[in-house]
Amino acid sequence: MSVAEFPLLRPVQNFVSTPRKMLIDGQWQASQSGKTFDSFNPATGEVLAKVAEGDKADIDAAVKAARKAFESGPWHLMTPSGRAKLLWKLADLIDANTDELAQLESLDNGKPFAVAKAADVPLAAELFRYMAGWCTKIDGAVLNLSVPYMPGAQFHAYTMREPLGVIGQIIPWNFPLLMAAWKLGPALAVGNTVVLKPAEQTPLSALRLGELMIEAGFPNGVINIVPGFGETAGAALSAHHGVDKIAFTGSTEVGKMIVKAAAGNLKKVTLELGGKSPNVVFADSDVDAAIAGAASAVFFNQGQVCCAGTRLFVEKKIYDKVVSGVADAAKKIKVGHGLDPNTHMGPLVSQDQFDRVTMFLKSGRDEGAEFVTGGGRVGTSGYFVEPTVLSKTHDKMKVVQEEIFGPVVTAMPFTDVEEIAAQANNSVYGLAAGVWTRDTSKAHRLAKLIRAGTVWINCYNVFDASLPFGGYKQSGWGREMGKEALELYTETKAVCMQI
Ligand code: ADP
Repeated sequence: MSVAEFPLLRPVQNFVSTPRKMLIDGQWQASQSGKTFDSFNPATGEVLAKVAEGDKADIDAAVKAARKAFESGPWHLMTPSGRAKLLWKLADLIDANTDELAQLESLDNGKPFAVAKAADVPLAAELFRYMAGWCTKIDGAVLNLSVPYMPGAQFHAYTMREPLGVIGQIIPWNFPLLMAAWKLGPALAVGNTVVLKPAEQTPLSALRLGELMIEAGFPNGVINIVPGFGETAGAALSAHHGVDKIAFTGSTEVGKMIVKAAAGNLKKVTLELGGKSPNVVFADSDVDAAIAGAASAVFFNQGQVCCAGTRLFVEKKIYDKVVSGVADAAKKIKVGHGLDPNTHMGPLVSQDQFDRVTMFLKSGRDEGAEFVTGGGRVGTSGYFVEPTVLSKTHDKMKVVQEEIFGPVVTAMPFTDVEEIAAQANNSVYGLAAGVWTRDTSKAHRLAKLIRAGTVWINCYNVFDASLPFGGYKQSGWGREMGKEALELYTETKAVCMQI
């Protein structure tokens, strides 16, 4: 399957054929070491583009530029409304470049162009619009004091929310543009400056976004984008003493490393980590909708979604029907090149990811899971895996406990609500969950019992800039999106004057 079969838009062709530089202080620069790394097309395994490889020295320069922009210069003086206009303009530019961004995302990540165009790109634009609205609404409160040891004293006391300063942001490869938006939007809305490190597998759309930010008019140094590897650029950013907060999305394992690295200067940390989300289907649900929902909950984005509904629990009475329905849906999924208009599911993002999913499939086999469908590779090149449904699984299995990050669902029957809440919570993770039933009080009762940051009822993978997203337990600290995200990018200052 060669890329040549699918014509590229001219700007995309130009973008990938020129070595990409990093953005520091408003300038596109080579890395200080002069090194570059390759970004691959996961549909073919071929090199897609060459990218400047950032390391500690580049991170240092980017943090300095971000500090300068935060403490002096136009960003420092800009009004909240001025920031809002920039964010809104950026959203308009994203819309105006939708096809180009979607094609770039599809090439670099593997996901179908149609999905990137319908979801990733517009969600990114909407995130910036939502955050633009907040810029002018970040405020504090006037407080009434009753200080017991100062009888009769009067005060004028108030709180204000101030930006934290320089934010380091490290993002993954599954939704490269959207994750950049989730991170940048709230940080910039409240007046911080940022050093963003995209994932080494998928740096291209974030770099294109950087161009659009310059075009929108963000002042130099407000947003710096340093592509590079996790162990070098990422580690340097998370340990940097000039960084006031590190915001990370990725694996739980790396999240724990980030926390240790952040301890040096006790920078603030937010983490959006792994998941093993339960998706619970009751016999009184709209079963057809539940089947379609359960399939898309796990197969969307090749299963490379931290909140994917990977543990499917089905009430015993309808277990066989639902499992065979999800398996039928899996069989109908057309796996192929992201730019092929017939494709529903693209390749996994990398050889590493392919090896990881393959290892889990083997483990499922070794531990006695039944493969209702899937389990194999598709084709002989690229990183394509069949959508897979496993039955006869139980809580002790590796495939049920660990995050696979591929198109693999494990199905298990259950008999009552109390039992299912405990089973749904039997995971070190707590990112999201799905519940399918027509009994609304049962749905809300279960939503209360499930320890997860998001519970979807009769739907799944519904994202909106206003819905806070993040994890309980080892799925993370803090929230992305919504008002909650903004608060996590500010400090509260209390001012108290005796009058
Ligand atoms: P995955 O295992 O799914 O690739 P990772 O958690 O390794 O997810 O990667 C998510 C992001 O974290 C990427 O941008 C990656 O470069 C970065 N990263 C990986 N290791 C480290 C590290 N030790 N310190 C900081 N960032 C890292």
